[in-house]
Order: sequence, then structure tokens, then C-alpha cells
Amino acid sequence: MKAFEYATALSTDSARQLVADHGAYLAGGNDLLGLLKEYLVSANILVNIKSLPGLNQIESGSKNWTIGALVTVGQIEGHAEIKKTFPGLHEAASEVASQQIRNVATVGGNLSQHSRCWYYRHRDTVCLKKGGDLCYARNGENRYHSLFTGNDCISPVVSNLATAFTALDATAIVLRDGKETRMGLAELYQKAWENPTAHNSLNPGDLILKIEIPTARRRSAYLQASDKHAFDWALVNCAAAANVVDGKLSQPRVALGCISPVPHQVQAANDFLDGKILDDATASQAADLILKGAQPHEHNGYKVPLAHALIRRTLLKLKG
Ligand SMILES: Cc1cc2nc3c(=O)[nH]c(=O)nc-3n(C[C@H](O)[C@H](O)[C@H](O)COP(=O)(O)OP(=O)(O)OC[C@H]3O[C@@H](n4cnc5c(N)ncnc54)[C@H](O)[C@@H]3O)c2cc1C
Ligand code: SF4
Repeated sequence: MKAFEYATALSTDSARQLVADHGAYLAGGNDLLGLLKEYLVSANILVNIKSLPGLNQIESGSKNWTIGALVTVGQIEGHAEIKKTFPGLHEAASEVASQQIRNVATVGGNLSQHSRCWYYRHRDTVCLKKGGDLCYARNGENRYHSLFTGNDCISPVVSNLATAFTALDATAIVLRDGKETRMGLAELYQKAWENPTAHNSLNPGDLILKIEIPTARRRSAYLQASDKHAFDWALVNCAAAANVVDGKLSQPRVALGCISPVPHQVQAANDFLDGKILDDATASQAADLILKGAQPHEHNGYKVPLAHALIRRTLLKLKG
């Protein structure tokens, strides 16, 4: 690990000043410390943001809830009102890693975690994402990789919370250039769709302050499939949110994770589901639309039927 300075910021403005162009924000440290130890990230200063005031709060409201960037995944899991109001978010949080990791992993860190591609994580491999000229996964070990991408890197976003927040149509409030900037979840990851070196759309120094979730959708659900029961990322995850009256959906949104560099959503599927009575056939047709155009690689073709089944089951969970 390269030497770095360390500072604790007591305000968001001082955090931004301290981190400058070559520092990194330190939240729970689950991802960042591993990246530093493996020489995948170099920072001349680590700015501990855990003492920033107000960012560890969960606030309820009639139209929106806000969840601070320093709220831990464990706090979401343990919050009885979140479990009632946003069950899909609660389920997504409960499936993250292990209890020990959930206790320290923050919302901001979970959304900003780097690629889990094993070529990216190997310190001696300089693939496209690290500025090299080749994606080794394309013709190599691509079991965990994407079915969709807008560039030559096929590493997917693996944050459970990103999938759940996308289905709930949440917005990230990001401190950028001294101003609070609102970014939908699609926007928060768009750069990773276009640019192989990006993990998300954050610029150096951007600080996620909180996530705002509209209460417009009364039902939500989340499911994932993983190799291991715990302590592992999903192979595919799926979240759905909607209102359901007499079995009929309104404002439906479905999102998938671990199959694209952005949380994968298809407006045509949301439009198709709007006003429909939920049954197996409808859920299956929506899954067809969501997975249309999927481009599996040599070892990840299994993700297509897996995602199809998860979409159907997650949607049917909305019936209650
Ligand atoms: C064994 C293991 C299993 C895991 N399984 C899962 C899983 O199943 N699902 C899942 O979703 N995740 C999983 N994770 C990932 C884990 O949830 C993340 O590593 C963790 O949430 C990161 O949060 P942190 O607070 O520790 O972030 P840190 O490690 O402190 O930071 C991570 C990155 O985010 C940046 N950052 C932190 N906060 C902010 C902010 N507010 N604004 C801007 N940038 C910020 C940091 O600079 C750094 O680049 C797993 C991790 C491990 C080690
Ligand atoms: S998928 Fe992306 S991170 Fe993995 S080897 Fe290819 S370019 Fe690198």
C-alpha cells in the first residue's frame, strides 16, 4: 500500500477541499481499503467522512423519504418502518454480504463500490478498465459478467441497493462543484455504460449526500440468486415496485442488477405492465421485453433464464 495522509472532515465543504483532486473519501472502508492494498486505487489523502453531520439519518415523509449516505446497510435492514414502507429495499439490504459487513458498509459506499471483475481486481492485470487496451473477460472467464453493455468492458454494477433504488425511482443528491446536484439512478451510472474506465458517473470529489425515495409506489419486492447463501454478490438480482389495486398494476418499475454496467431497466416493459392484472403470463411477457437483446458470453448464458425467472417471481411477489 502506498503512503497517504489521513484527515477527518467535519463539514461537507471541508471534506471536498481536503479530498481535492487526488484523495478518496473513506466511509466504511470495506471496498476502499482492499483497493488501496491491491494498488488498484492510489490516493494521496484519505478523508474520513464518518463524522459529517446529518448524513447518518433516515427521515420519513409523506411524499419522500431520505436516507443519508452514511446510513449503514445494517441500519436499513434493521429499520422496521423501511421494512413496512419499502420491503424491496429492506430485502436488498438484508442480502448484502454478511452481518459484520452490513454493520459498517454505508449507502454511499455501496453505490460507489468498484467493479468485482476478477481481472480488474488482480493487481498485475491491466485491462481496459485500468487503462489497458484489452478486456480479458470477453474471451476469458466471464461467468459473472454482463448481458448488456454500451462499451467494450463487460463488468456489471453489483450493488444490491442500486437495483432496489432504481425500481423505487430514487434520486441521489450529490455535492458537485459546491452545489447539490440531483441524479436519478440511471444518471448515477450512465458513465459506466459509455466509458470502460468508469464504475459510475461520479467525478473526482463528488460526494453522495443522501438518497431520496418517493413514496408513490406502495408495493416493492427484491429477489436475488447467488452461488453462496451469504457473504457473496448476486449472480443476478431483481427489484420491482408499483401500486397494486385489485391485482392491477400502476406506475410499475422493474430493475435488474449484475447484468449491465448500469441498473438494467426497460421502459417498454414498465409501459407494458402499467394497468395489467398480474399473472404468470403477464410477468413472463414483461421478462421477455426486459431481456430482449441480451448478449451472453461463453460462460454467462445461464444468466438469461435465471434473470427471466427472477423477474417473474419478483413481479408476482408484488401481489402480496
Ligand atoms: C465479502 C463481501 C461481500 C459483499 N457482498 C455484497 C453484496 O452481496 N451486495 C452488495 O451490494 N455489496 C456487497 N459487498 C460490497 C459492500 O457492500 C461494499 O463494499 C460496501 O457497501 C462499501 O461501503 P463502505 O461504506 O465500506 O465504502 P468504502 O469502502 O469506504 O468506499 C467505497 C468507495 O466509495 C467511495 N465513497 C464512499 N462514500 C461515498 C460518498 N458518500 N460519496 C462518494 N463516494 C463515496 C469511496 O471513496 C470508495 O471509492 C460485499 C463486500 C464484501 C467485502
Ligand atoms: S470486464 Fe471490464 S474490468 Fe473486466 S477485464 Fe474486461 S475491461 Fe477489465
